[in-house]
Amino acid sequence: MSEEPAGLPQVETHCPYCALQCGTRLTGGEAAAVEVAPTGFPVNRGKLCRKGWTAPQLLTTTDRLTRPLVRRPDGELTGASWPTALDAVAARLRELRAEHGPDAVAVFGGGGLTNEKAYLLGKFARLALGTSQIDYNGRFCMSSAAVAGNAAFGIDRGLPFPVTDLRQARTVLLAGANVAETMPPLMQHLESADLVVVDPRRTATAQRAALHLQPVPGTDLPLALGLLHIAIVDARIDRDYIRLRTQGFEAVARQAMAWWPERVESVTGVPAETLREAVRLLAAAPNTYVLTGRGVEQHRQGTDTAAAFINLALALGLPGTPHSGYGCLTGQGNGQGGREHGQKADQLPGYRSLTDPAARAHVAGVWGVRPQDLPGPGRTAYTLLDALGRDDGPRALLVFGSNPAVSAPHSSHIAQRLRSLDLLVVADFVPSETARMADVVLPVTQWAEEEGTMTSLEGRVLRRRALLKPPAQVRSDLDVLHGLAVRLGEPFHRYPTEPREVFEELRRASQGGPADYSGISYERLDSGEALHWPCPETGTPHPGTPRLFLERFAHPDHRARFTEAQQHEPVRESRSEYPLHATTGRVLPHYQSGAQTRRVADLNDTVPEAFVQVHPDTAKRCGLADRCLARVTSARGSTTVRVTLDPTMRTDTVFVPFHFAGDASANLFTHPTLDPRSGMPEFKTSAVRLEFLPE
Ligand code: SF4
Repeated sequence: MSEEPAGLPQVETHCPYCALQCGTRLTGGEAAAVEVAPTGFPVNRGKLCRKGWTAPQLLTTTDRLTRPLVRRPDGELTGASWPTALDAVAARLRELRAEHGPDAVAVFGGGGLTNEKAYLLGKFARLALGTSQIDYNGRFCMSSAAVAGNAAFGIDRGLPFPVTDLRQARTVLLAGANVAETMPPLMQHLESADLVVVDPRRTATAQRAALHLQPVPGTDLPLALGLLHIAIVDARIDRDYIRLRTQGFEAVARQAMAWWPERVESVTGVPAETLREAVRLLAAAPNTYVLTGRGVEQHRQGTDTAAAFINLALALGLPGTPHSGYGCLTGQGNGQGGREHGQKADQLPGYRSLTDPAARAHVAGVWGVRPQDLPGPGRTAYTLLDALGRDDGPRALLVFGSNPAVSAPHSSHIAQRLRSLDLLVVADFVPSETARMADVVLPVTQWAEEEGTMTSLEGRVLRRRALLKPPAQVRSDLDVLHGLAVRLGEPFHRYPTEPREVFEELRRASQGGPADYSGISYERLDSGEALHWPCPETGTPHPGTPRLFLERFAHPDHRARFTEAQQHEPVRESRSEYPLHATTGRVLPHYQSGAQTRRVADLNDTVPEAFVQVHPDTAKRCGLADRCLARVTSARGSTTVRVTLDPTMRTDTVFVPFHFAGDASANLFTHPTLDPRSGMPEFKTSAVRLEFLPE
């Protein structure tokens, strides 16, 4: 922390919200007077979106959790001391483990946790609890692209190049990514590019596109296959690149041959001529990028869809070349780092696999245990939540940095599973919908009150810095894990509470893994070095790896893989009962489950309630008028929202933002069917009907 001339404390840190991690300077000595300003950090270059500008309001939210809460026998949550709360949690955990075994206790983490927290949470679950039952909300965010990226390139880093490389782009395909609303400062890097946008809605990003492809929700996979078909037939693929740098093209090309443009048009609704124009734009420019986002990934065939877009990029010869590439736009603030250090069901730190004997031996060595002491892989997020309270499922759940009561699909069912638990513990800084259901609530620090590291969407490791001291009775998540672990009989020294100390251990645990942080230190980050992983420890300071794959991909033969995309049977739902497609997503002023942004007056006043965006003709057919209340109903449940007419919508599609809770929660109607490879739920397509609701 430095002092500016006026004497006020000041730190350079990063925005608390999304994975762009815009650079900010915070100034002020007390929470109510903190001011934020953008820095010249390369991804935001002096800009912030509305969420970044208003982030200090999070520090003074009126219902901030400021002391532990324990539910009394009469059902009321009431204040308690830290020793009382932690003793109660540890005692109950011990009982449940003794009665039902270690997997009776589960852990649910978050993609917003710092690297240090995510790392210690994974270690705590596997050692202190001995459970295999840990996963996190990033499963609902990045998992499909991560599986596809690992399969294609041998490594998963959202953007394998710095964001600023996009400034050289001539054409950028944005498939299911509305960056003008979700990451507005990113748009400055796309100013010189022709944008080809794939989105069922005419989003703010689509409005700035040279070409907008507006498919039926859930048809992105045939669309990507059709684009590849055209690229092959029109001889726009890079045969030298395919021969020298890839394998598996022939099988994928055979599959694409079945998706001629007119067939794709009949399935997606995108005119064949528009598809051809898209390929012409992508293949004509020397500097072309293909970027995917949640719109094409949050489906039960999300992995195959992401793979199909990667196949297209490979066929055009883009990944691993200067000034071109493929990337996936990570969403949550630490969505990248949060999926690298062990809070995933199948993972050890450094993006190592929990089933790899060498990885187990390495991490066990760092942790001072035997490899056989580490549990195996557990259930993925939705499956884990669905198993809560069942005979063969966990009896207790510890939640850190997540609000699954709102963010999980079929949320009324998940709320029921949460209520069936013997013990629900939530660590958060606001009383989220999940926290309000808990037996014990533990108040923890937030962004401007804590030190640590985050890893941005471009794989750059960043320092989060504290400006303020937290309220007196608030502790860091690291303290909470330490306090519980010691009460569960773990050695005191195994759970450091200083972020720097945790990071030092994370470095060693990640050493030699795909996401190798061993050459990164707080000192190097604090000196201003731009360090992208992998950054191994070598004799001399390693410069990090801003651009992956320029010489080789991460598979043993150094070649990228084309992967055949599997077409999955569509979810069968009655089209006569539910004739519309509902898709969900974000709006500019809000973030994820809205637990934070609904508490920021300047954001919530802009979009204070959920809405359904619908074409005027569709609304008329359903007996709806602009601003009336409507019920959006699927076979899972109904959401109550206000109608917003929008003539740019497809007449067969409606859109509902997912930031709201209670009756307005979009996830009341979403489908929990899962991608078999990634565990991603079918968030983006639900069969629904609309009905007028009198006020
Ligand atoms: Fe924060 Fe993301 Fe907005 Fe930047 S784009 S200010 S990181 S929410």
